[in-house]
Amino acid sequence: MKAVIKEGPGPGLVLRDVPVPVPGAGEVLVKVKAASVCGTDVLIHDWSPWAAGRMVTPRIIGHEFAGEVIEAGPGVEDIPTGMRVSAESHYFCGKCRQCRTGSPEVCRDLKIMGVDADGSFAEYLSVPAVNLWPNPAGMPDDLASLQEPLGNAVDTVNSEDISGKDVLITGAGPMGLMCVAVARACGASNIIVSDPNEYRLGLASMMGADIVIDPIKQSLHDVAMSATAGNGVDVFLEISGKAEALAAGLRLLAPAGRVSLLGIFHGPVPVDLNKDVIFKKARIYGITGRRPFSTWKTVSELLSSGRLDLSPLITHELSLGDFEEGFHLMESGRCGKVVFRP
Ligand code: NAD
Ligand code: ZN
Repeated sequence: MKAVIKEGPGPGLVLRDVPVPVPGAGEVLVKVKAASVCGTDVLIHDWSPWAAGRMVTPRIIGHEFAGEVIEAGPGVEDIPTGMRVSAESHYFCGKCRQCRTGSPEVCRDLKIMGVDADGSFAEYLSVPAVNLWPNPAGMPDDLASLQEPLGNAVDTVNSEDISGKDVLITGAGPMGLMCVAVARACGASNIIVSDPNEYRLGLASMMGADIVIDPIKQSLHDVAMSATAGNGVDVFLEISGKAEALAAGLRLLAPAGRVSLLGIFHGPVPVDLNKDVIFKKARIYGITGRRPFSTWKTVSELLSSGRLDLSPLITHELSLGDFEEGFHLMESGRCGKVVFRP
C-alpha cells in the first residue's frame, strides 16, 4: 500500500510502498477513505523541536480520518466488516488514575496515532477497536475525517455554556474556524474573530463570525469594546498560540468571564495574573485533545443534524501522491482544511 512516512530524523516526508498492516489483538484494519491534515502533521513534516524530541522513526503519520472496516483482529467480535468509522487518535491506557477517574484525555501513558503509532496517511491503518467511532450513515467521508479536530473545538467552546455570550476568538486557522462554527451552532451571541491573515478572516465570516478583524491593521481592543458596549467579552478562546493575542484577549475579558486555551505557545508567556485573572475572577481552562467519547457524540450530532456545516472549511482535497502540495498549502495559510484521498 502507499503511505506517507517520516523515514528518519530531519525535515521532509516520503511516499513509499509498504506492507498492509496486520491487525493485532484488539485491533481492527480500516481502509482509509479520507484523511485530513493537522498542524501537528506540519510540525512533524518540518521536524520541529517537539517532533524531534518525541518521535521514533520510521513512522506513517496522520491521525484524522474516516474509513471502512476491512478485518477485525483477534479478540474483536462486535465490529462488522464494512462499518464506516473514524477514531479517537489518542490511545489511552485505561488503567492509570486519570483514565479510571474519567479523564482519559490526560492519560499518564498516552500514545498518539501518527506520532507514537502508525497513522492515517496511508491506504490502510490498524486501530485499537476501543478507539473506533461509528460514522452516521449519510455523513460524507471528508466531513467525517474532521470529527477528530472538531472534538477539540467542541471542548474548547463548550467547557462552559456559550449560549448568549459575547465571544472573542484569536486565531482563525482550521482550529479557530471550527470554534467559530461550534460557537455559532451552540447559540453564542456576538462572535469576534481576530487574525492577521485576510484569507482566513474571509473563512471566519463564512463560518459565522459577526466581526472579523486584522489586529495589525485595526485596534482589536477598540473594536471589541465597542461591539460589547464597553463590557468586554464574556468568553475568550485563544486559538493562535501567540503571546500578544493572549495578552490582548485577557485584557478584553469581562469580569467573571471565562477563557479556554487551545493554542500552543512556543514557550512560557508573561501574564498579568493579578489584573487579568485574579481580580477579574476569571476561569481558565486548558484544552488538550477531546473528551472520549462525549465530545464525539456532540460532534456527530452537530454535523448530522445539519446545525453545523463544515463544508466551507474543506478548501482542498488531494491524492496522497500530492501530499507535498498539501503541506505547502498548510504552511502558506491560504487554506482551511486539506483532505487527502488515499
Ligand atoms: P494555525 O497555525 O493554522 O492557525 C493559527 C492562526 O493564528 C493563523 O491563522 C495565524 O494567522 C493566526 N495568528 C497569528 N498571530 C495572531 C495574532 N496575534 N492574533 C490572532 N491570530 C493570530 O493552527 P491551527 O491548526 O488552527 O491550530 C491553532 C493552535 O491550536 C495551534 O497553536 C495548535 O498547535 C493548537 N492546537 C492545540 C491542540 C490541543 O489539543 N491543545 C490541538 C490542535 C491544535
Ligand atoms: Zn491512562
